[in-house]
Amino acid sequence: MTGMLLAATVGETLDASMHGFDMAIYRIFGAIQNDVLTVIAKLFTSIGDEMFVIPMAILGLVLLFFKRSRKYGASLVVAIALGTIITNLVLKPMVLRVRPYNTLQGDADYWLWYTAAGMLSESDYSFPSGHTTGAFEIAFSMMLCFAADKRKKLAVMCPVIALLVGCSRIYLMVHYPTDVLGGMLAGAFAGVVGYFLAKLLCKFLEKHETLNNKLDLERIFKKGLSTKVIAILVTAFCAVVFAVSAGRSVTEGGEDVIRCAYDNEYDCQNEARVDSEKYPPIDGQYYCKIHWKQLTGADNAKDAQDAPADDAAQQAEETEALDPAA
Ligand SMILES: [Zn+2]
Repeated sequence: MTGMLLAATVGETLDASMHGFDMAIYRIFGAIQNDVLTVIAKLFTSIGDEMFVIPMAILGLVLLFFKRSRKYGASLVVAIALGTIITNLVLKPMVLRVRPYNTLQGDADYWLWYTAAGMLSESDYSFPSGHTTGAFEIAFSMMLCFAADKRKKLAVMCPVIALLVGCSRIYLMVHYPTDVLGGMLAGAFAGVVGYFLAKLLCKFLEKHETLNNKLDLERIFKKGLSTKVIAILVTAFCAVVFAVSAGRSVTEGGEDVIRCAYDNEYDCQNEARVDSEKYPPIDGQYYCKIHWKQLTGADNAKDAQDAPADDAAQQAEETEALDPAA
């Protein structure tokens, strides 16, 4: 690998230093693979999908405007925002770890497990796992809320489900076990911080009663809502969101995915950007976002149009001619 000779990314260092650990865990998950578990893994994976996490942030926003559920709503909103920033905006672009289904193509065992689990295809970097972050940020913030309200069973259920989401990412072979550990840490951190910031907000509002009452939409229901009705509505919303996300998740992957055309040091299995104005085909071929950027040297099609590399010098000359002061 030429990358190793130049300057190794953090991702390449992780690949090399954690190889033994990652493969040992992969072997355990590879050994238990079967058709039923594969469907179950896809169901759990859908809880960490943006199709599930984004509606949970919207639910949090709604709950935020009711005095009684404000702690839950604020915890969800802060935890999801913080976890998304840490994992997607900071860590993934910093670590630059290439997905295992791209790096481990020469490992016959791994490749067998990956294809047996349905060849799911993602389009971003590997470390940390975004699905695991999503599941843990929601689980930890909700666990602390439930524990504070003495709802012990619900409090215990949250991290157990999140752990199964993390395991599903390894089972489906779209993440290294170390990616999942990273996602667990990032998500748990975001969840805990989200809960305590939400508590601060609620305390602040309790001291400012007028504002607290103004920000309580329960006023619009003359008789008020019973806790039971609220719980049923929230549960029903979560169930519908889960059903939609799970429905998409079980049909994902396999032969139907249009994969990136990049085929240099590995045959990129990332999902290609198709019919995207931001990432149009290059010489009639579709690429994933990572390789589109690598091949064009631009962030997206608009940037490429605004500042074509070859024309930059010419443009500077023109500006100079027009502006004698330059
Ligand atoms: Zn690619």
